[in-house]
Amino acid sequence: MKFDYDLFVIGGGSGGVRAARVAAGETGAKVALAEESRMGGTCVIRGCVPKKLMVFASEYAEAMHEAVDYGWDVRIGGFDWTKFRTRLERELDRLEGVYNRLLQGSGVTTYAQRATVADAHTVELADGTRFTAKHILIATGGRPSLPDFENAGLGITSNEVFHLDELPKRLLIVGGGYIACEMACIFNGLGTEVTQFYRGAQILRGFDDEARGHIAEHMIRHGIAIHCGTNILSMEKGRDGIDVRATTGHSFTFDQVLFAVGRDPNTRGLGLENLGIEIGRRGEVVVDRYSQTAVPSIHAIGDVTNRVQLTPVAIREGMAFVETVFKGNPTAPDHDLIPSAVFTQPEYGSVGLTEEAAREQEPIEVYSTTFRPMHKSFIAREDRVLMKLIVSQATRKVLGVHIVADHAGEMIQLAGVAVKMGATKEDFDRTVAVHPTMSEELVTLKHPVRSA
Ligand code: NDP
Repeated sequence: MKFDYDLFVIGGGSGGVRAARVAAGETGAKVALAEESRMGGTCVIRGCVPKKLMVFASEYAEAMHEAVDYGWDVRIGGFDWTKFRTRLERELDRLEGVYNRLLQGSGVTTYAQRATVADAHTVELADGTRFTAKHILIATGGRPSLPDFENAGLGITSNEVFHLDELPKRLLIVGGGYIACEMACIFNGLGTEVTQFYRGAQILRGFDDEARGHIAEHMIRHGIAIHCGTNILSMEKGRDGIDVRATTGHSFTFDQVLFAVGRDPNTRGLGLENLGIEIGRRGEVVVDRYSQTAVPSIHAIGDVTNRVQLTPVAIREGMAFVETVFKGNPTAPDHDLIPSAVFTQPEYGSVGLTEEAAREQEPIEVYSTTFRPMHKSFIAREDRVLMKLIVSQATRKVLGVHIVADHAGEMIQLAGVAVKMGATKEDFDRTVAVHPTMSEELVTLKHPVRSA
């Protein structure tokens, strides 16, 4: 059978764009891609990129205070949100243009429309046009969830947070995960009064307990009002903002409420269930280790599969898909030992097991230190760094690395290489320290603080 395209990709985010480009550019496949919103997807348009730029903006307040203590004559004025936002919008336009040009340069045909799946080999665009394709790749990503209670619509999500007309004076953030904690630090740095409600006992569930406590303590010391064991009971529009009753019985008024309570895969209305493709409990497309659905001609990658919701993972899944389907080399994406960073202030970089998970798995040694880094102790700041290695007693392999420090994201990328290679504690020990740095502590941890 002759198809219009060898590959039709639905979704122009990190994963979809990479798969389309590599399939077209490296294998000569005839490829089309449909995107209903802006090219670049969550990461570029409403996620990692604008978030990181906001992190940079928010760090200047502290940096200016530090500069004063270092001897600079700095007069600290206010933050001009409109100026920043205008520049941010220009940057996102530029990046969207780059993505479009990369696709064009690889010979991918793009359609700026929503697409749905009509059958195993047919895609239908919003204007009714239909195309056949030998392979269809679902890369539609996810969207922020909203909690299910009355007036939740008064709040915003990470989709809207980059487009606010003005910086809120009083902001409530609901959630204790990546987005909630990153946004709490960003807005706190920009001068907003931030309150964070988290329903559990400690923020950043799933991460290393010691690191979670360390970060929470910093956030509180820097002015964020974290309320654990707390959720919204009710919210309504009041005279002076949004009136919120907490489950603890306390009442508050905020200018904005930001929900960061997880993300749901974008599968609604795509037509997948009709074809016999399994949709999981959270709405995700169920795939095998090669990202293939129950319909052999349809694959899915990235957040829509709800495996690991991280841009570089979606990109890897996209490349493994092309390798498998277009290069005849079956390749399953490797989801083991993925380093990642939470861009709180201070940052948290981690790879491998938490102390808690490692202890469940096998006997371990824990090497851990906290100290005031040179940069901060010079100006009498209380901020401390945490460096921690989890080591297998049997194999001596480093099972996990946890770093809470400025630039921990940069450090964990390299520690990730060592852990992925199976480095032992002794390999860390025989590596000469780079002095004076914070990360040198990782290779000079002499004695375990505990064994378990
Ligand atoms: P997360 O899953 O990380 O966190 C969701 C948070 O919301 C949890 O604290 C959860 O609590 C809480 N929650 C869930 N439902 C409710 C509810 N009904 N009421 C109150 N609280 C609730 O999701 P995020 O939205 O923060 O981020 C989504 C994903 O995006 C992340 O998992 C991550 O993979 C990715 N991401 C990565 C970043 C990075 O690499 N730096 C940055 C931002 C996002 P509980 O813990 O009790 O379940």
